[in-house]
Amino acid sequence: MNLLEIDNLKVNINDKEIINGLNLKIDKGQVHALMGQNGCGKSTLAKAITGHFAINVTGGSIKYKNLDLLNMEPEERANRGIFMSFQSPREIPGVNNLYFLKTSLNLKREFNGQEELNSAQMLKKIKTLTKELGIDDKVLKRYVNDGFSGGEKKTNELLQMLLLEPDLIILDEIDSGLDIDALKRVGEGINRLLDGKTSVLIITHYKRVLDYIKPDVVHVMAGGKIVKTGDISIVNILEDKGYGGIDNASS
Ligand code: ADP
Ligand code: MG
Ligand code: MG
Repeated sequence: MNLLEIDNLKVNINDKEIINGLNLKIDKGQVHALMGQNGCGKSTLAKAITGHFAINVTGGSIKYKNLDLLNMEPEERANRGIFMSFQSPREIPGVNNLYFLKTSLNLKREFNGQEELNSAQMLKKIKTLTKELGIDDKVLKRYVNDGFSGGEKKTNELLQMLLLEPDLIILDEIDSGLDIDALKRVGEGINRLLDGKTSVLIITHYKRVLDYIKPDVVHVMAGGKIVKTGDISIVNILEDKGYGGIDNASS
């Protein structure tokens, strides 16, 4: 079953057409990579899926779990299992990290008709994850991402992600600002979620991250749409010949 089905999507930012007729289908449990030159609209697509305020969808449709995603507020999209990892994760000074994690999970549980977890249950769940991920519990007492290094922010996001158990994860340039060790750790964390139930859309310029999170399908975006879809061999063509090599490549 398709978890996400994007049909003829058109998106403007400030009256400028950024996406024009994009189609994309992601099955439950699949990992898709989206590549494309800087400025081609990859992040804009991610924002259209999560419901970012700055973008204006002017045409097409997005179905998620067979529901009309474009009619949902961003909070509802998140509560229904869409998780976006940002190029630069938000800092929320004044909000305690543990409180943030607890509230996020309980809001999601409440939305989905599940019982709220009490403090003890929540702490147990969170500490199991920090232990598995090798995260120092001290980060739970700090403000969300406030003063965190690039790697710490990504690891903290990974903690949120594993706690919330999303159905669709969008990773926008997760490799930017991560050294190889941090990338490997984050990649392993994400792979733990990939139990055949969780779908992933990885947006990246580089092959590196795809060595850790292996895509089933690779797409190349240009001119506001997806111009090529195939397997990992597309990435090798890009590495060898750049985006110009894509036009001549047979699919
Ligand atoms: P990518 O993620 O592929 O590098 P983006 O989706 O971030 O590309 O940007 C696509 C285009 O939209 C670019 O030309 C960019 O300058 C433009 N754009 C993105 N955000 C805004 C904004 N807030 N205001 C005006 N133009 C924007
Ligand atoms: Mg960019
Ligand atoms: Mg981008």
